[in-house]
Amino acid sequence: MLRRSLLKALVAGAASPLSRWPRGMFAPASAKNRIRPSDPAWPSKDEWKRLSDAVGGNLISVESPINACLASPESDACKELFGNLKNPYYIGESPGMTQTLGWVDAWTTKPSVYAVAARNAADIAAAVDFARNHNLRLVVKGGGHSYQGTSNAPDSLLIWTRHLHDIAIENDFVPQGCQGRHAPQKAVTLGSGAFWYQAYDAVTTKAAAYVQGGGCTTVGVAGLIQSGGFGSFSKHYGTAASGLLEAEVVTADGKIRVANTCTNPDLFWALKGGGGGTFAAISKLTLRVRDLPELAGGAGFTVKASSDDAYRRLVRQFVGFYRESLFNDHWGEQARFSADNKLDIGMVHLGLTTEESRKIWQPFLDWLAQSPSAYTIEPGLIIGSMPFRHWWDVDWRKEHHHDVFKSDFRPNANTYNVWWNGDSGQVGWVIWGFESLWLPAALLADDSLEKLANALFAASRSSDVELHFNKGLAGAPAEAITAAKDTATNPLVCDAFALAIVADGQGPAYPGIPNHEPRIAEGRKAANSVHRCMNALRALAPQGGAYVSESNYFEPDFQHSFWGSNHARLAEIKKKYDPDGLFFVHNGVGSEPWSHDGFSKL
Ligand SMILES: Cc1cc2nc3c(=O)[nH]c(=O)nc-3n(C[C@H](O)[C@H](O)[C@H](O)COP(=O)(O)OP(=O)(O)OC[C@H]3O[C@@H](n4cnc5c(N)ncnc54)[C@H](O)[C@@H]3O)c2cc1C
Repeated sequence: MLRRSLLKALVAGAASPLSRWPRGMFAPASAKNRIRPSDPAWPSKDEWKRLSDAVGGNLISVESPINACLASPESDACKELFGNLKNPYYIGESPGMTQTLGWVDAWTTKPSVYAVAARNAADIAAAVDFARNHNLRLVVKGGGHSYQGTSNAPDSLLIWTRHLHDIAIENDFVPQGCQGRHAPQKAVTLGSGAFWYQAYDAVTTKAAAYVQGGGCTTVGVAGLIQSGGFGSFSKHYGTAASGLLEAEVVTADGKIRVANTCTNPDLFWALKGGGGGTFAAISKLTLRVRDLPELAGGAGFTVKASSDDAYRRLVRQFVGFYRESLFNDHWGEQARFSADNKLDIGMVHLGLTTEESRKIWQPFLDWLAQSPSAYTIEPGLIIGSMPFRHWWDVDWRKEHHHDVFKSDFRPNANTYNVWWNGDSGQVGWVIWGFESLWLPAALLADDSLEKLANALFAASRSSDVELHFNKGLAGAPAEAITAAKDTATNPLVCDAFALAIVADGQGPAYPGIPNHEPRIAEGRKAANSVHRCMNALRALAPQGGAYVSESNYFEPDFQHSFWGSNHARLAEIKKKYDPDGLFFVHNGVGSEPWSHDGFSKL
């Protein structure tokens, strides 16, 4: 205590003469390095107690359940933990955990020292003020799905929004300050810790309406909106960020502000795709709600080709078929091309009957049927539609034997804690390599289609490559494209017919836990394959850009890859609202002056 007061007195005494020198020349140590618990200037117990009081007792000392495993790897508790690490709800409810456990040679999940389990914007403001005044590393976590590890930081104070999940639908929402300028419209306001299943349950299952969000049910609403955000039906509705009408945020100065097109419009624009954890901490957001179409559906099947040559023809046929029949706002989601000469179709449609959707695919199925020795459709082909209202309806899906969700398997868990089967491979995973690239629609032109097919074939020799058609807006209605242009997302998204994603990794693992270690050598090899694979596509789209939240931790020239021509404006807004860089994330806007962990100014 005495030492700390002495230190404070010395710093205070030194401050005035030094202030005559140019900024930064004799910057006090605190401006260069944020404080860690080992530092004498780390806040005292009394100071933490004051923060705890200010947030109604919701200051938590954070423990990672992984620590128990590190201490006794053979214990039953450790075995149980590795089971639970396959459950996104278990992970999401633990302030010391993240949905991705790490990335080989990049980062490993580590808990903060303390977390403010925020219940409202005032709690967030108290945390922001405390971190700023004590020069602490601050981090914000919602759903915890960051692949880049941007929602965890050791030695930090965490703002944890999990308990901020109130949801309210209004028929006549007008953004604050927009009275008389904006017509009232239907909207949903969500606490920033809500995740998409909660949003869809409230808006679609219960209220028979639609809100554009993300695909994965457990992704957090605030993280996704700040990413730009794509859901299965984005080819029709556009990015999730385009539907943002208003956000309530706490900026680095600790002020609670509203951001919309009439109030703080620059900040509002930056929040729409400028990247999470960068401009402010969001406490709630309001999104546009639309009418619900009657039907949605999909096409799912796997074709296996009997030889490389047959596969090459299959890829060529599929991209031509895509251009002719699927390149429109009805069809989204994915096709996957693999080294084992398989084409996996996992696409969704909006607004078509079962008959219509089957008719669309028939020419492709006929083409396959003409060469039975070259192509086999694996059992389980399904093409059809269903009432859209029940897309996220757990009870309806169960009743109709749609085995699409995995459920929280803990005793007494809420039966509505579900996630798509297709997302289960990423729960608790460790990434080896992950890259993305927007593919311009010009590649679908007559004189490019062959090149595109050849590049996809070549890419698939190194690693599985997925085309996410709903994450490129070419083919979307003009309204969706215009709205996306008014966000911070890289404008290239508007000219892209798909986002190519290549990724590899392993199930739950953690360094230092025997039999559960990340497989480093295998991971590095896989990362090289991922890179080689994507380079085959990059040759066709060298300036393609990457989707900020589904991209390479080591993305070169990330500023332009993630935001393209929008980066310069984002950098200005960052300087205006957070000149000292309180909000830091790896490869975020304004992250350049900081060390990779956000602790030291370079
Ligand atoms: C399994 C899986 C599936 C995915 N599917 C999709 C998909 O279909 N479509 C798509 O577009 N993306 C998808 N993503 C990417 C996902 O949208 C982003 O990673 C998103 O940022 C995650 O948000 P979160 O709140 O869950 O994660 P977090 O890790 O909690 O947050 C992500 C970033 O946002 C910041 N942040 C979170 N909450 C706040 C807040 N209240 N205020 C300020 N900053 C905040 C964090 O600091 C962090 O930097 C997927 C990711 C995973 C792991």
